[in-house]
Amino acid sequence: MSFSLKPYNTFGLDVRARDGIVVRDFAMFPAAFDKIRKNGTGFITLGHGSDVLFKGDYDGTVIVNRLMGVEFNEDANTYYVKAQAGETFHDIVALTMKKGIYGLENLAMIPGTVGGAPVQNIGAYGVSLSDFCRYVEVLDLVTGKVDRIMGRDCGFGYRTSVFRTPENQARYIITAVELALPKDWKPETSYNALSSQNLETPEAIYDFVCSTRKIKLPDPKVLGNAGSFFRNPVVSRETLALIQKTFENVPHYPAESNPEMVKLAAGWLIDQAGCRGLNLGTAGTYRNQALVLVNYGGATPDDLVNAAKHVQTRVEDAFGVHLDPEVRIYGEKGECQL
Ligand code: NAP
Repeated sequence: MSFSLKPYNTFGLDVRARDGIVVRDFAMFPAAFDKIRKNGTGFITLGHGSDVLFKGDYDGTVIVNRLMGVEFNEDANTYYVKAQAGETFHDIVALTMKKGIYGLENLAMIPGTVGGAPVQNIGAYGVSLSDFCRYVEVLDLVTGKVDRIMGRDCGFGYRTSVFRTPENQARYIITAVELALPKDWKPETSYNALSSQNLETPEAIYDFVCSTRKIKLPDPKVLGNAGSFFRNPVVSRETLALIQKTFENVPHYPAESNPEMVKLAAGWLIDQAGCRGLNLGTAGTYRNQALVLVNYGGATPDDLVNAAKHVQTRVEDAFGVHLDPEVRIYGEKGECQL
């Protein structure tokens, strides 16, 4: 286990991989593939590691994607922004804002890289990457070629995409993403958090989202975390009615995937189950946002797994609802269950 993953996971866990390589240039990919072949194990690609929890050492090769660069193009109606996978997603949001190119303001300050963004179809305040993704550029390990997967073929759903499946994780390395941003900007302020603020310009939305997120999300350099740890659960109307018997004001929204179902706010459930600011010693949840699992300092992978399971149990006991992790969990052999 020669490759430390400590700098490459925002929980700051002291775990290792069998081998790893930081790819800063396309020309480094052949060396990366040689390592994978030589080791004869699987591989995973990481950006900032802001959406992963390692349950221990990983017996495979890690490719850290640090391809950098941004290109701007436009036609009569649209700006096209092509960013390399290693760029920090928020830097692209900030850069477009500075250039007067709007649309990404709701996605400000989501942790992670451009390459990680399509994998879970990042989203915030009613906007998702899929709203603007023209194509994802990939290195296809089956054909050995660089290919473009158009946005409509990416299987984007609620915090998911085709890039999450194990087959595609073993097949594609995301190298860049091109976004298409209409010149005719329309604000998306339907979420209460925004609609209650009278935000009329992209800059006002951007500033509000940045300041809100600074309060709600701990800086991983200070407190290790991976942003929202659990997905918002989607439940039947019968389950909602049962919960409403005790919790009349439970927040709920139509599920994007199925109008017959409802989406509950995982953070609210965790809070009501008494787990906001949970502190089990080295691991727990953040006091300003219950959805964020944190490393209070010196947590081991087991400490974080135990804290996550503790939250799951408390929510299940209180509401009969199971919370699934939104972050990807990796064990010795690759992606696995919590
Ligand atoms: P919040 O404003 O406290 O709202 C709690 C939850 O209610 C959110 O998760 C949101 O679902 C849902 N919600 C609120 N208003 C809604 C509406 N009008 N229609 C549908 N759903 C609504 O949320 P928060 O935890 O502070 O997060 C703010 C935003 O940042 C959310 O959109 C959240 O998804 C996003 N975020 C994204 C990531 C990521 O992409 N990994 C990480 C952290 C936070 P949704 O989550 O479906 O929007």
